[in-house]
Amino acid sequence: MFDGLIGFVRDWYGTAGLIALHEPRFGARDRVLVMDAIDSTFVSSVGAYVDRFERDLAAYVHAARAVVTVNGTSALQVALRLAGVRSGDEVVTQPLTFIATANAISYCHATPVFVDVDRDTLGLCPQALEQFLRDTADRTPDGCVNRRTGRRIAAVVPMHTFGHPCRVDALVRLGAAWGIPVVEDAAEALGSSREGRACGTFGQCGIYSFNGNKTITCGGGGAIVTNDAALAQHAKHLTTTAKEPHRWAFRHDEIGYNYRMPNLNAALGCAQLEQLDRFLADKRALAAAYEAFFAGCGWGTFLREPAGCRSNYWLNAVVVQEPSLRDALLTATNDARVSTRPIWELMCDLEVYRQCPSGDLANARWLAQRVVNLPSSARLVSAG
Ligand SMILES: *Cc1c(COP(=O)(O)O)cnc(C)c1O
Repeated sequence: MFDGLIGFVRDWYGTAGLIALHEPRFGARDRVLVMDAIDSTFVSSVGAYVDRFERDLAAYVHAARAVVTVNGTSALQVALRLAGVRSGDEVVTQPLTFIATANAISYCHATPVFVDVDRDTLGLCPQALEQFLRDTADRTPDGCVNRRTGRRIAAVVPMHTFGHPCRVDALVRLGAAWGIPVVEDAAEALGSSREGRACGTFGQCGIYSFNGNKTITCGGGGAIVTNDAALAQHAKHLTTTAKEPHRWAFRHDEIGYNYRMPNLNAALGCAQLEQLDRFLADKRALAAAYEAFFAGCGWGTFLREPAGCRSNYWLNAVVVQEPSLRDALLTATNDARVSTRPIWELMCDLEVYRQCPSGDLANARWLAQRVVNLPSSARLVSAG
């Protein structure tokens, strides 16, 4: 039943060997810039590539500022702190996400609250959020309060699943109406846009990840982007141990973090960013080919970019017709050394997040039983 898909993927990548879900791609330019960072001796916490990567990234997504960090999780933790999330608060997010989203909320000693996703975007659903707020939240002078738990709802964190833009514009409007800042988990969505505007730039802050499995990589890395210069300044301060600038004195004016991206990783980030448009073009070609394949297949529907959006197609996905097909597909493809995997288990079903409040999660549950990720690496493009 799945031989057609296995053959299609093997033809696309032109190999009889193991086909990974998502591999990084490196060319001559990556080697040149990484070697340059080594030769400069500035491999660690200061250096020209950190500043350059922040400038290049901000320019790419048309944000006023970017602050790069050691990874995407730390970027999200700091963005939440900047949004005012404090111990004892609640933060609304989606149950269908990678665990880093919920963990970053926990690192702020806040509680995730799970609200349903849209079936077409796989991201936080504005109607579900509005329903949840109407049913449970009161606006008070201290902010928006969950009347069932008595805790403040301090932020909303939508996630752009697999690079498909969620309805973030509507979520930001809702957040403004209820006095709740939106922090976008755009870890998977560098290069994606809604109505021409980059994912990550709709909310008060957005974050990206440059982990090895993401669309571009620094080895490890993350970034906070924002159009608010004061927030960016504070993000830089918090991620660099909150040290007051001085030629020799060590004075720290709050408890910050050592979350700064090393210059060595930033050098790789600069080189990878130069290649991003080529990676995106190759990934779009693969997505179009998958779409054509699944149009004639009968057992699954390819997950397309939502209307009005451009997806980076970080990870391609198929929605199988029946839940019973999911594990059959996973077994057949992995047996054939074509890597596939199911979408994440819902956060609210994990032992550690089972006690968290949640709304009706019908769409998330429906998707969790049916979505399977397919090999999605860019092919080796000629090095620039
Ligand atoms: C990758 C990812 C992160 C965090 O990234 P790291 O750089 O690995 O810390 C956060 N959220 C989501 C949804 C991700 O996919």
